[in-house]
Amino acid sequence: MTSAVPRDATAFEVREALRESGCAVCHLALRSVGRLLRSVAYEQVNDLGLRTVLRKRGGFCNVHAHDWLLAAHSVLGTALIYKDVLEAALRELDSPAAGGQRGRLLRGLLGAGSSDADLPCPACRSQAEAERRYVEALLALLASDAAVGREFEASDGLCRRHTLAALRARRDAAEPVVRRAREALGELLAELDEVIRKEDYRFRHEPRTAGERSAPARAINWAAGKAGLTSP
Ligand SMILES: [Zn+2]
Ligand SMILES: [Zn+2]
Repeated sequence: MTSAVPRDATAFEVREALRESGCAVCHLALRSVGRLLRSVAYEQVNDLGLRTVLRKRGGFCNVHAHDWLLAAHSVLGTALIYKDVLEAALRELDSPAAGGQRGRLLRGLLGAGSSDADLPCPACRSQAEAERRYVEALLALLASDAAVGREFEASDGLCRRHTLAALRARRDAAEPVVRRAREALGELLAELDEVIRKEDYRFRHEPRTAGERSAPARAINWAAGKAGLTSP
């Protein structure tokens, strides 16, 4: 936890993200993951530590493996990383007692360290670090800069997960985040009530507002975070 006020690129990024729709921390965390995947594709594909982690855990997690495929545009990188993964899998299948599922299971039951499958996905780890960094930066800015307070008030506020993360990180500084979440939820619930009412055949002829049309999707984004965010 830090109480230092970010005056650097992080602060700039937070203020910029408050102008985007939806949760600013989701936006920034997803952007960090995109940057990591691109840097793996262009610079770190031969980084031994990274390649070892990816080989041991069977590549990126499901969400980030498919993100990689869509975003990295690296035929060579994909071939190199996943050749490692597939060869390691083949070795395990060839010697199940030594390194395969049964061997791992047995080691796990005997408490001989965690299995390789417990290694975090590098992109998930980068996402978690970004979430922490940006929640703390936002809270520090809110505590010190009234202009950021006004920008935050005008934003959509944070999603469920990042509102709770703000509370866990600094309960003393999270009050504006909680207040904005209450307001946003009140508005969203009123819109959802209207959505539900207008699904009734008696009121179906009533026009839907733009807010009502987007309310179900915004409810999902609030409850689950933006699409592509993985669970901790
Ligand atoms: Zn969020
Ligand atoms: Zn992941």
